[in-house]
Amino acid sequence: MLKGKYGLVVGVANSQSIAAGCARAFAGAGADLALTYLNERALPHVRPVAEDIGAAALLPLDLAQEGALEAVFDDIRGRWGRLDFLLHSVAFCPKEDLHGRVTDCSAAGFAQAMDISCHSFLRMARLAEPLMTAGGSLMTVSYYGAEKVVDHYNIMGPVKAALEACTRHVAAELGPQGIRANVLSPGPIATRAASGIDHFDALIEDARTRAPERRLVTIDEVGAVAAFLASDAASGVTGTVTHIDGGRHVRM
Ligand code: NAD
Repeated sequence: MLKGKYGLVVGVANSQSIAAGCARAFAGAGADLALTYLNERALPHVRPVAEDIGAAALLPLDLAQEGALEAVFDDIRGRWGRLDFLLHSVAFCPKEDLHGRVTDCSAAGFAQAMDISCHSFLRMARLAEPLMTAGGSLMTVSYYGAEKVVDHYNIMGPVKAALEACTRHVAAELGPQGIRANVLSPGPIATRAASGIDHFDALIEDARTRAPERRLVTIDEVGAVAAFLASDAASGVTGTVTHIDGGRHVRM
């Protein structure tokens, strides 16, 4: 399904990351991949994932560092000369702001959360655009807290709402070039990032008992949807939010 396609995956922290499930699915479908790692501390946890799937490149990327994203795209331009799809699976918010009321969110925390978790997707889209000469697929990862107030998700709700709205605009702006942009919205999955959310166990329990499928979803199930969206099979699909949550979003 992805044979002959080149993809960039940003957001693997370890083998449990949603991006790791997606990378496995992309590689399984035949794509050539470049993965990134946050820093030297993260590298020992990301390298096994990259090796496992035979990634062509493993590049450093801290989105808070000026020029770091440009360096990744320079590498891709030199390596492949083009890019067919990318996955942005990144979120960050300072703890004090993540655990406080939205009403009390600091300007600095708000700006940082928006920059790393949302604006970085726009930067990636902008850098990918000239490389997606044969069209392409841009994907990001959101959560139901973008749509409704989910207790304890706090400021990440508005941040994800902005991410989803940005994705729709990117879809509208880049659509004429055959570049699609879509949002994956998984249910709760126990990952590093998820462990930073207060009372995350309550969200897990809620999914187990209230999702129509009465179970949690896996990163491989998210990966299967991502691989579809990356592929030409999804050529008519852009600007969408796809829930991979066992149907939880349909219930009050
Ligand atoms: P994770 O901790 O495995 O992944 C988060 C990634 O963000 C990590 O790889 C981390 O290195 C990266 N990151 C943070 N700051 C960065 C920076 N400055 N530069 C570059 N990378 C940075 O957790 P995850 O749950 O796989 O999260 C991936 C995405 O999925 C996030 O956007 C998250 O909000 C979203 N999501 C998670 C869940 C869940 O329940 N786990 C549900 C819905 C959506």
